[in-house]
Order: sequence, then C-alpha cells, then structure tokens
Amino acid sequence: MNTQIDSNYTPDALIVGGGIAGLQSALDLADQGLQVLVVERQSSIGGHMIALSKVYPTLDCASCITTPKMSAAAHHPNIQILTNTEVEAIESRDGAHQVRLLQKPTYVNFDKCIGCRLCEYACDTEYPDPFEEGLGAVRAIAVPFTNAIPQKAVLDAAHCGTCGTCARVCPTGAIEFDQQPRHLTIRTDAVIVASGFQLNAVTVKPQFNAHRSRNIIAPITLERLLAPHGPYGRVLRPSDGKMPSSIAFVQCAGSRDESIGVPYCSRVCCMYSIKQAMLLSGALPLADITIYYMDIRAFGKGYEQFYQNAKAMGINFVRGKVARIHPVDGGDLAVQVESTENAETPMEPRRHDLVVLAQGMIPGWMPADSTPVACASDGFVATPALTAPTATTAPGIFVAGTAAGPKDIVDTIAEAGSAAMQASQYLYQKRSALVAV
Ligand SMILES: Cc1cc2nc3c(=O)[nH]c(=O)nc-3n(C[C@H](O)[C@H](O)[C@H](O)COP(=O)(O)OP(=O)(O)OC[C@H]3O[C@@H](n4cnc5c(N)ncnc54)[C@H](O)[C@@H]3O)c2cc1C
Repeated sequence: MNTQIDSNYTPDALIVGGGIAGLQSALDLADQGLQVLVVERQSSIGGHMIALSKVYPTLDCASCITTPKMSAAAHHPNIQILTNTEVEAIESRDGAHQVRLLQKPTYVNFDKCIGCRLCEYACDTEYPDPFEEGLGAVRAIAVPFTNAIPQKAVLDAAHCGTCGTCARVCPTGAIEFDQQPRHLTIRTDAVIVASGFQLNAVTVKPQFNAHRSRNIIAPITLERLLAPHGPYGRVLRPSDGKMPSSIAFVQCAGSRDESIGVPYCSRVCCMYSIKQAMLLSGALPLADITIYYMDIRAFGKGYEQFYQNAKAMGINFVRGKVARIHPVDGGDLAVQVESTENAETPMEPRRHDLVVLAQGMIPGWMPADSTPVACASDGFVATPALTAPTATTAPGIFVAGTAAGPKDIVDTIAEAGSAAMQASQYLYQKRSALVAV
C-alpha cells in the first residue's frame, strides 16, 4: 500500500471503489503483471461486504471471506491503494484518461502511524459509529473498525474536541492537525468503475413512519446486529435494548415503486431478507418472524432451495403489500397489510416489535458531467453492448459490480473478473498498436 502517490504515478489501470468488485478486478489485473491503483473514498477498503454478517446462499461469515481479499490486494506488489480519496471526475483525451482525485485529510500521517491505537484509547470524545450504523460509539480518532485495511487511525474533525491528547500519546508523532484536502490528477490508460451502490433512506416512504420509530430499521443495520462482532454482540432492538420477539420484514420497501423514483427491482432484497430471517431464527429461537412480500425472486443457483429451507424452518411468508406502519405503545409497530391474494378481505393490522425495511439499491456514485461514461435511466452506469456486459459507452472505461446495477456477490465477482479481462485486452491491443506504428 502506498499513501504518498503523486501525479507522476501512471498506473496501467485505475479502479474507482475498493468494494469487493474493485478488489477482485484489481487482483485479476495485478496477477497479470499490470500496475493498478485502487481509489476508495472511505477509510477502509471492503465496501458493503465487509459490514455484512453472513452471506447467502452459503451462510459463510462475510468477514472471513472478505478480509483475505482485502489483505491480498493490500499486500500485492502491483496494487497501490488510496483510501479517504474520492474520484471526482474522469476526463478522456487522446485515448488516455485523466482521473481527478480529492484526498481528504485524515490528520494522521499514514507513513508514521503503526496502528497501535494508543490515540484511540486516550481519546475521550465519542460519536455514533458509522460502521455500526450509529448503534455503537466510536472515538473521534480511531482505526475505523477491527479488520479495517489500512489499520491506520483516522481523526474525524467534525467530532474532535481538539484537546491534543492523541498527539501527546502517539509514539511516532503521526498526528498532523494541519493536513489539508489535496487534489491530484492521475493519468491512466484504463479505468474500471466499481463504485457500487447505496441504499435509499428508510424514510423514503413517509407512510412507513421510520422517522417516528427507532425500531423501524434498515437491512444493513440488521446485518450489524446479527454480526458476532456487531455493536451489542446479540440482537437487541434500538429503542430500548429489548430482545425482539416478533420481527417483520417488509419487502420492496424502497424499490419497484415509480412514486419514489426506483421502478426497478433491487434483485438482492428477497434473498438477503430470507437470509436475515434464518439467522434471526437461530439467534432468537422463540421469535415469530414474518416476511411480507409481493413475490419472491429467488433466481440464483441454489436460491430456491434456500427459500424452501426458510419456510421449513418456520419463517412466515405473507403475500401482500404493506400499506402503512404505525408506532404503537411500548415501542411496537402496527403493520397494515393489503393482501394481494384476497383483496376483498382486509387484513387486521399486525403488531411487531421490530420492522426491517428492504430498501432499494441506488447508484453509489454519480460521475461528474465531464466524465465520458453514460448512465442508464436508472442512474447506474450504462452497459449498451449485450455481448460485452462490462463495457461502458467510453473506450477504455469498464464497469464492474453494482455500479452497473443491483446484483449479489456471486454476480459481482464474475463481472469484476470479466471487467479485468476486458481492460487487460484493451491495454494489450492499445499497446500492440503503438508498437506496430
Ligand atoms: C443488507 C444487504 C445484505 C446483503 N447480503 C448479501 C448476501 O448475503 N449475499 C450476496 O451475495 N449479496 C448480498 N448483498 C449484496 C452485496 O452487498 C453486493 O452485491 C456487493 O457488496 C456489491 O459490491 P460492489 O463492490 O459492487 O459495491 P460496494 O460494496 O458498494 O463497493 C463500492 C465501493 O466504491 C466506493 N466508492 C463509490 N464511489 C466512489 C468514488 N467516487 N471514489 C472512490 N470510491 C468510491 C464506495 O465507498 C465503496 O467502498 C447484500 C446487500 C445488502 C444491502
């Protein structure tokens, strides 16, 4: 890993995003001897996958399979990684790409920081931990999470009490309060956009009243609650720390709905909700677990069997559209469902003590207008060629993973390999043509 990259560094390929797609593409290119720069805007690589508990369909521990990839990329001699750095724009001229980066100050010199965490232990200012979806607390200066890569402390200026304790306890003099944002431009021949996805807000549908109850949560929050190394180490509901006994999953809560601008299917929600329901029934064996769904889309290899297993485990599947959710007494929620099977008989509101909204996937990054890559009408990077699914509208710029549209890890990995292959072929052809001239 190198944190001191400057504009003279010209990698063969630059990868936007250090999630699982970006890391897989980087490893596949680097193994072919190409020099790769991975740019990640967060303080650690790993993307969404490193925050998951277990993954369907195998129920492997997500950390156990993501951390080795993160580590392999970080230790690869042909890969350089810049974290805390945002790709702002890509400009293409004469077959080469100029990628504009904004390196955000971490107030810690990464070349000096040895990851000892003495600064973190000494810091007495805490704020809600973004990695734990706000459920736990993190110090104002901290290594972002246990298996973060790089294992370097980062100071959050918005929460720092500027007491100077971290600088006093740091054994290597790594704290630099005077760091400034730095702009740099990297020239490269190939780019892979692996900028991933975000989830739309739990408040996107006002009729679900998520702004009125802490017990209406996002699926990624439940991933953290289910993770063995999560904020509480067990599943407790956010409002009062009670162990929930009746949990509802609301499907299509942020997708397949024109009114919120997300008409498409997010493709992973059925499966991750089924997975979470299965994990919950293991963690809370006495709890009632209900999935309210319009239809179940279990399209991948082994996914239908996974769904059938969940039914056999006693998870309740109720076909219907959730119309409204209302907070009631004791922090519980009343879920009003319209049956799509028997519209004539209205269903009574059902009471649950925790509700999980299956939010929709939306693009993780909207490229600046100067970037020569077109986006489709859903905002994800357009891939116009049916027979080259990782090619974008710009020569030499490829796309991998959820940057091109909602998909799960298996499809993301396959696409990342394909993007790397297309990028290396592009580089080979471009350089052979130059030699021939
Ligand atoms: C709750 C939930 C549970 C899931 N469970 C499963 C499961 O069990 N099994 C499964 O197969 N799939 C699951 N998925 C889907 C899985 O998370 C995705 O398929 C996978 O994480 C996609 O990886 P990615 O690299 O494309 O995107 P991301 O993980 O989003 O990575 C993209 C990276 O790019 C960075 N980035 C974005 N823009 C920029 C920029 N301009 N400059 C620099 N960096 C940038 C982001 O910070 C991020 O780190 C789940 C999804 C959710 C929401």
